Amino acid sequence: MSRNAVLLLIACLVAPSLQAAELVVYTERKEPLVKPIFDRYERETGTRVRLLSDAAPVLIERIAAEGANTRADLFMAVDAGNLWQAAERGLLDPTKSPALDAAIPARLRDPQGRWFALSLRARTLVYSTARVKPAELSTYEALADAKWKGRLCLRSSKKVYNQSLVATMIERLGAERTEKVVRGWVANLATAPFADDTLLANAIAAGQCDVGLVNTYYLGRLQHDTPGFPVQVFWADQAGAGAHVNVSGAGVVAASRNKAEARKFLEWLASDAVQAEFAAVNFETPARPGVKLDPVVAAWGPFRADPVNVSVAGKRQAEAVRLMDRAGWR
Ligand code: FE
Repeated sequence: MSRNAVLLLIACLVAPSLQAAELVVYTERKEPLVKPIFDRYERETGTRVRLLSDAAPVLIERIAAEGANTRADLFMAVDAGNLWQAAERGLLDPTKSPALDAAIPARLRDPQGRWFALSLRARTLVYSTARVKPAELSTYEALADAKWKGRLCLRSSKKVYNQSLVATMIERLGAERTEKVVRGWVANLATAPFADDTLLANAIAAGQCDVGLVNTYYLGRLQHDTPGFPVQVFWADQAGAGAHVNVSGAGVVAASRNKAEARKFLEWLASDAVQAEFAAVNFETPARPGVKLDPVVAAWGPFRADPVNVSVAGKRQAEAVRLMDRAGWR
């Protein structure tokens, strides 16, 4: 064998171990929001992060069907109910990480460490600055008051965000009281429920209704694009339980062959330096406390969040769906 052939042989044997590591993330969080951050990870560490994006229920079925052959190392979702589902299906493994436990408050992660919140998504009251004074607003429950008859806008009950909100209300108020509230909301609707939160906020701006419930980042986008947008955030129930907060988050896939690398990536996502960007690209709040906020988000002021563990959104999801259906929320 010539010297060159020997070198080539050695190169071939060594090459696989020199190849850059790679992670695959199955993500419900939309590609434009995560791709720049995944690319940043590759620049900083050399580990390439590929993504496959789809709706969470589709991704959950896919990971289950792929079984031991799945390419997914991490599962990322934008609702605690979906993270809970993936964990309950046995698709996520507990991650033991003092860094993650220190970064993410206990109520924002699975008690068994199978998923961790990465950003907070408050779902709270929004109102027309032209027709409503903030002093008229208080709690989610108060929107069932006859005072709001024909003035309330809601999104469809099919959306998991509303299911998670109602699930945490059942936990807090009990099913009977929650159903009374939801019936009151339905009775106060100005128009049929909307397909998304942006349409809802635009309906308030256009005068179709005066108050509504949205994830604040939808309003953040509108306020950012249209200075003076005539709809504002009101933090619900600040004298009581606090505003409902859902999360986007991620966990390590049980069948992943790169668990140590996947854990490192999660720790990086939860680090101070990355949390600000992860949240700000979508006008959300970092899951890690004390991280700098986007100016649009900071302008809404600090708020108290409902301290319930967000996994309740999953545990009570089916119950919430049945309740909304009984109450006639379409
Ligand atoms: Fe959304």
